[in-house]
Amino acid sequence: MANQRKFFVGGNWKLNGDKQSVDGIIKFLNDGPLDENTEVVVSPPAIYLDYVRGKLNNNVATSAQNCYKVAKGAFTGEIVSAAMAKDVGATWIILGHSERRHVFGECDELIGQKTKYVLEEGLGVIACIGEKLEERESNQTNEVVFRQTSAFAANISDWSKVVLAYEPVWAIGTGKVASPEQAQEVHASLRKWLADNVSAEVAQKTRIIYGGSVSAGNCKELGTKPDVDGFLVGGASLKPDFVQIINARK
Ligand code: PGA
Repeated sequence: MANQRKFFVGGNWKLNGDKQSVDGIIKFLNDGPLDENTEVVVSPPAIYLDYVRGKLNNNVATSAQNCYKVAKGAFTGEIVSAAMAKDVGATWIILGHSERRHVFGECDELIGQKTKYVLEEGLGVIACIGEKLEERESNQTNEVVFRQTSAFAANISDWSKVVLAYEPVWAIGTGKVASPEQAQEVHASLRKWLADNVSAEVAQKTRIIYGGSVSAGNCKELGTKPDVDGFLVGGASLKPDFVQIINARK
């Protein structure tokens, strides 16, 4: 039986872009055509959120790549709060991305606090999890992704606002994509975890998307897997190839 989950494709621009290249991305997204059955979200660097929202067609939502855990205050140098992202039209925030965890040292506890705050602001959360290569090689993949998911889950009361993004660290930005079977296996385990620890309904309805070296060349096969409900795309989201990824199920 086909599931009812709407395919979800996010573009994570990371710390890339200037006004000129951002204009190029906006152009290929506005030109499309984009599959209407795919929910599309792009995540520019925070300083361009307002600019992008002003120029992008309304069929593509915007997201911040991170935020602080409160709306405002004496936090010099913090880049964005969810309230500010919302003020300039963003509707999603990426939290727990592996680069936040492993380059900037964010821990499950902080990511959980941010999750609670973002949901209180009424924004959606793209909740990222994923194991490192050595963790996979020592058979700890499930243990790691379940621990990370449970830190999110402890702070989520409304799962309709959450997309779970499985991004194995060894696949991010490396060109070493997980095989469709590897992605499906972890996604199925995560869905079972949601059924066992949250509810059968949440397990059935929550989108679990895959990230890590997704490209125009590999997206179609990954997208055929029953528990792969979309993608979080880094490098390829900066290129016109992203339109092909959005249209992977077409
Ligand atoms: P990548 O990044 O597609 O460049 O591997 C994915 C991500 O970090 O979200």
